[in-house]
Amino acid sequence: IRGGSLDQHFLVNEPILDSIAEAADLQGDDVVLEIGGGIGNLTERLVARAGRVIVIERDPRLVTVLQDRFHDVSNIDIIKGDTMKVELPAFNKVVANLPYSISSPITFRLLNHGFEKGILMYQYEFARRMVEVPGSKNYGRLSVDTQYFADVRLLRKISPSAFTPAPKVWSAVVEVVPRPPAFEVKNEQLFFRVVEAAFGQRRKKMKNALTKFNPPLANQESILRLIPEDFLGKRAEQLFPEDFATISNILYEARDD
Ligand code: SAM
Repeated sequence: IRGGSLDQHFLVNEPILDSIAEAADLQGDDVVLEIGGGIGNLTERLVARAGRVIVIERDPRLVTVLQDRFHDVSNIDIIKGDTMKVELPAFNKVVANLPYSISSPITFRLLNHGFEKGILMYQYEFARRMVEVPGSKNYGRLSVDTQYFADVRLLRKISPSAFTPAPKVWSAVVEVVPRPPAFEVKNEQLFFRVVEAAFGQRRKKMKNALTKFNPPLANQESILRLIPEDFLGKRAEQLFPEDFATISNILYEARDD
């Protein structure tokens, strides 16, 4: 099967496929979720190393390809469906060459579900935004939200030539290791709303950005005065994830709804 006829870019570079499977550090008792099995190049390496592999693939033609290719393999389950809609099975590791159009919703669905370790491929720019720290131009809402849930590390950048057909963009493999938040957040929903409002106006000082909650917070005007001037005078891209936690905790304590 040629990827082109399916609007997909399949990873075909053998050393890179090996390195992704190796990075997952698979053991006999691991249950691995693979999202978007495609023609099974990565899947083949997973079933050889893990206790069990569960593949979710949306394209019925590729489901048939996978069923044929792994007909004689006993430690695989192939689920036909959309990863955003199916009930996620129990798993402890996740490996995926993700469809880039749904990188963000899939990642947060996985992070909310919980797992031990993920080796996930993204478009390079997206991967950079996930792993960046304050002061970098790629640091933003995606960095803070991701790092709230997990330690993330960019393992390698991948050239378009590793795929067939070659896509226009570069890719990157990211290691995602979920852990409890590194700081106290009294109300998660409010924390994420503060981050969203702050980076929604990333060139503005927090003093102005925080007036743009959508919908506005109850008694917003008076409670924003409780935030230390030190934070209000900075721009979102200068603040660390724990600073957003401090701000959201102050707002949470002061709420009267
Ligand atoms: N992992 C394969 C490889 O490296 O050759 C294929 C990667 S391709 C970029 C993405 C795969 O995800 C395709 O097989 C596509 O059909 C599948 N896919 C796209 N959206 C999906 C979704 N929402 N749920 C499950 N699979 C999906």
